Amino acid sequence: MATIRHTSRMTEVPQPPHKRRAHTSTRDLERYAGLFAERTTVMRSSAMRDLMAVTARPEVISLAGGLPDTSTFPPESLAAQMSKIAAESAAAALQYGPTEGFDETKDCIVEVMAAEGMLPDPDDIVVTTGGQQAIDLVTKTLVDPGDVVICEAPTYPGAVPVFCSYQADVRQVEMDGDGMRIDLLEALLAELKAEGRRPKFIYTVPSFQNPGGVTLSLERRARLVELARRHEILVVEDNPYGMLRYEGEALPPLYQLDGGDFVIYLGTFSKILSPGIRLGWVVAPPPVLEKVVLGKGATDLCTSTLTQFFVRQYFAEGGWKRYVEDLVDLYRGRRDTMLAALAEHFPAEATWTEPEGGLFIWATLPEYIDTGDLLAKALRSDVAFVPGQAAYVDGRGKNSMRLNFSGVDDEEIREGIGRIGRVIREQVELYEALAPWSSSGAPGREAEGVPADAGREAEDVPVEDVAGNVVPLRKEANG
Ligand code: PMP
Repeated sequence: MATIRHTSRMTEVPQPPHKRRAHTSTRDLERYAGLFAERTTVMRSSAMRDLMAVTARPEVISLAGGLPDTSTFPPESLAAQMSKIAAESAAAALQYGPTEGFDETKDCIVEVMAAEGMLPDPDDIVVTTGGQQAIDLVTKTLVDPGDVVICEAPTYPGAVPVFCSYQADVRQVEMDGDGMRIDLLEALLAELKAEGRRPKFIYTVPSFQNPGGVTLSLERRARLVELARRHEILVVEDNPYGMLRYEGEALPPLYQLDGGDFVIYLGTFSKILSPGIRLGWVVAPPPVLEKVVLGKGATDLCTSTLTQFFVRQYFAEGGWKRYVEDLVDLYRGRRDTMLAALAEHFPAEATWTEPEGGLFIWATLPEYIDTGDLLAKALRSDVAFVPGQAAYVDGRGKNSMRLNFSGVDDEEIREGIGRIGRVIREQVELYEALAPWSSSGAPGREAEGVPADAGREAEDVPVEDVAGNVVPLRKEANG
């Protein structure tokens, strides 16, 4: 029997054996099921979380996570900050803090937002346990079961379980290379208005979107903000990646364009410093913020005091922007490696986005390939990605996938894409062997008004854009 030693009195207390009960008999399941809240019937797990268990195996090359490369953070810097905190403020750092976060943390947040052209009032900020909690708290504050939430198609896979948990009626608006289609958004808003329904908010990741990799154009940003004002609808701008731009001109965040009346801003230190510290934030108009703080108090009392002390200390050193610049250089190279590997290893029928920043590439395969099935095959080759379906609430996205290029090195990117390319090619060859009459390699093109052989001789091939629309695309543009 296991024992635990109490060093003070050196007595040995018997411990029950560590044994996990199975709880799988029908009676067990029924007993618990009768206790579950209604909302648990619509709760969904996060695809990335599910995959983490599989991808933790060291032999698996995971292009599935959204992991920043934390090995780039100097361990001696972490050690120095933590030693200083221990020496100078151990008691305070180990204590609870205010629910809305420390003023010093808010000062760091103001500095980060200023670097992207925003000037928030520190009183409008609440520090959260990561950006994920920020999404959860805003949804908890605004959404009753059945309320409409609008987001992009595809949307951040981690937002899907949140919206589902609060039983939102999620409507997804398609994107193209310039981000969310504002014309389609306008049509949806008109449709909802005719039904007498006012959406609670429009959730968007305008810069280097997760998972699409696309960025909302300046013209569309202005239109979105104008629409929000005209219809008095809140926009929730989630911006973890704005500072990770590898090329092109920076675009103003929606918060900057709007001034913070109708735009609620969500930020995080995860991608510019560390996800392990679990620090994010919400900037919202005072009446909304007040409710967000109440919601947070009920959830976790306050954000980690220790990691808030760490951020304060780290920012005081003044090197945070240099670290972000180093990350930008590193990830730019990895993005280029992945784009080159895709061109080399993915079949001609596949297309993908070419992000100017962020951590993700979204690839679209022929319609007959189900990336959920493909993932099972890929895992047998020790490589993982996120199947596109995780980014939709309605089952769309079956033939697409999200690929991350920040979490593994160049060699692993090349090897990982090579392995995925091989399993895709096997599928394509199998399909072509079984359906030799299909010259386009994809069924249903005619049904969508595109001739099956449209891509064979001409330079333009019919492919799906990030939104799943069949569009002509210059073959050489994407390999
Ligand atoms: N929003 C988006 C768009 C994200 O991609 C992520 C992380 N991948 C988050 C929010 C949450 O990140 P965290 O909780 O680590 O801040």
